[in-house]
Amino acid sequence: GIEVRNLSKKYGSFQAVNDVSFEVAGGQLVALLGPSGSGKSTILRTIAGLESADSGSVMLTGEDATQLPVQQRGVGFVFQHYALFRHMTVRDNIGFGLKIRKVPRAEIKSRVDELLDLIQLAGYAGRYPSQLSGGQRQRVALARALAPRPKVLLLDEPFGALDAKVRDELRTWLRKLHDEVHVTSLFVTHDQREAFEVSDQIVVLAEGRVQQIGPPQVLYERPSNPFVAKFLGTVN
Ligand code: ATP
Ligand code: MG
Repeated sequence: GIEVRNLSKKYGSFQAVNDVSFEVAGGQLVALLGPSGSGKSTILRTIAGLESADSGSVMLTGEDATQLPVQQRGVGFVFQHYALFRHMTVRDNIGFGLKIRKVPRAEIKSRVDELLDLIQLAGYAGRYPSQLSGGQRQRVALARALAPRPKVLLLDEPFGALDAKVRDELRTWLRKLHDEVHVTSLFVTHDQREAFEVSDQIVVLAEGRVQQIGPPQVLYERPSNPFVAKFLGTVN
């Protein structure tokens, strides 16, 4: 699982993340939901080790990862604009993280084939990113993140740039994929519907602070403050 404890981060004098604590239980898919500027990406980047917090800690599968460099954290990530390598085929993109870890070639091949099946792009191994749709590219990005078997998967608005219909499809697909691979996942979104449909638990964030944590149904029925009620579209 992921445990975030009392995380705070300032940019200059601006408090972007303010004493944030939450957990993602092992194997769960949790959404970090909040409006633009609420600190979601900052929290995700801190968990990944791409950014350091001013205070607080990050535990990954029971180990204190707060001081670990990104390469040693065992996290996979998919960002909205974390592009695929344009000069590499789908197969080489997915296998990249295995190749740099010196995994034997035959093993890379079988692992990539497995992942291509999982993302339902078995016939696309030889294509280049420019020959794929936006949704297909994000599925490849997800397979690339999953290839080294990360302990946790971090997704920052992975479908944000896609149109509504494709987002819908990918959302359903992500939930199915998660039910198959069960990798502990934290999914950042500002879209309430996305959070509701995809996740086991939702952490609602506003102005760098956690507003409420709970399963979708509970947040919907019993929002703990007017912000949550309004943001989730519930009339309270
Ligand atoms: P969005 O939904 O728009 O992606 P977010 O919830 O991911 O928003 P963050 O990117 O975490 O929000 O930013 C939180 C706040 O911190 C914002 O007010 C942002 O302007 C500020 N911020 C983020 N990164 C930096 C930075 N490198 N320098 C200064 N301020 C920053
Ligand atoms: Mg963001």
